[in-house]
Amino acid sequence: MPSDSRLILVLNSGSSSLKFAVHDTGTPIPLLSGLAERLTGEGPTITFKDDSGKQAHPLPEASHAAALDAVLAELTRRGWIDSLTAVGHRVVHGGERFTHSVLITPSVITDIEAVSPLAPLHNPAAVLGMRVALQRLPSIPHVVVVDTAFHQTMKPEAFLYAIPMEFYRKHGVRRYGFHGTSHRYVAGETVKLLHLDPNDHGLVVCHLGNGASATAVQDGCCVDTSMGMTPLEGLVMGTRSGDIDAAAVLHIMRITGRGPDEMNTLLNKESGLLAVSELSNDCRELEAAAEDGHAGAQLALEVFAHRLARHIGGLAMALRRLDAVVFTGGIGENSARVRAMTLARLRPLGLQMDAAANACMTRGAAGIISVQGTTPIVAVVPTNEEWMIACDTDQLARQAAGALVEAD
Ligand code: AMP
Repeated sequence: MPSDSRLILVLNSGSSSLKFAVHDTGTPIPLLSGLAERLTGEGPTITFKDDSGKQAHPLPEASHAAALDAVLAELTRRGWIDSLTAVGHRVVHGGERFTHSVLITPSVITDIEAVSPLAPLHNPAAVLGMRVALQRLPSIPHVVVVDTAFHQTMKPEAFLYAIPMEFYRKHGVRRYGFHGTSHRYVAGETVKLLHLDPNDHGLVVCHLGNGASATAVQDGCCVDTSMGMTPLEGLVMGTRSGDIDAAAVLHIMRITGRGPDEMNTLLNKESGLLAVSELSNDCRELEAAAEDGHAGAQLALEVFAHRLARHIGGLAMALRRLDAVVFTGGIGENSARVRAMTLARLRPLGLQMDAAANACMTRGAAGIISVQGTTPIVAVVPTNEEWMIACDTDQLARQAAGALVEAD
């Protein structure tokens, strides 16, 4: 490790897991990454992954603190700990309080806790991770990078639900959007790839993973997105329903006697591709099954593509002009079949897929899959949320260091 290396630790704390990545600020590929799991139950483990492969170890205790200690011990063992310059924390929900990444202060933590009613599973876990990391690494800057922040440029016409305004004013019930770090990163990379004007472009970015969302990006800013107050709204996802008539939810509650928590589980964990296919939430598995003639798998992929095309069409109308539709995420980057099924439905927008280019996209590479010379362009651009978090963290850490020098 060169002595001038600046390592950034990226942390993503879940309620029972801690995902981490260590980035050198010069390169988007992490030096080390991994996942600590079962942090609230039996048999907690941590897995480290680097270019030599994966290694799993048991943790001495089921806690976020034990997981972070194991990460720091690994950094010490590799002789990297002194090069660690900052920590970036991913937070899912920032409400209206976070419009960009910020250095963590006590009031920032209070603000994230204040938004917890809107993200009861995610935000308390993120705060727990932050507290542990601040305690273990008190002398380096910590930065929070919020999933909803990129979408805060949406205007009221895009973010309001048409329900009595008191729910928005008193309780923050509105559309926030998620996957913002990925959408921001991919939009920026697309502008570079397609040589677009950073101050004059219109994109629809489709982040299609186990969770999925699409965002209309104009001149680098989000103008509309498919997810809502929570990540449930919008596209069909692995286990989430996406859009559903609220009256259908009420009807199911009435006829089955299910309460709000059970409905939450049904709509977030038991729906989507899994429910329609009656087989799996995993796109790769569904593609293989569809190949073998599994009708449910084929239907689930059709519903997924139909909903996605409908959203892309709607989001395009939020733009001044549609320059490109961009696919990213595990499905968007890797499934030529889903891209083709979606694009076949988007001919009214003038999108023309180059079937050979679509089929030949190399895994992990960025490229154009529309017929050369046609617009809007269709591109595939791999996402890298951890790298975006590391870049924001490094930038804010450098600014903080600069401010300290100036104050001296
Ligand atoms: P993510 O949440 O971004 O990791 O994406 C996970 C989704 O990507 C799962 O549904 C996977 O089945 C899907 N996926 C990953 N690789 C492929 C592939 N080669 N073909 C189709 N789907 C894939």
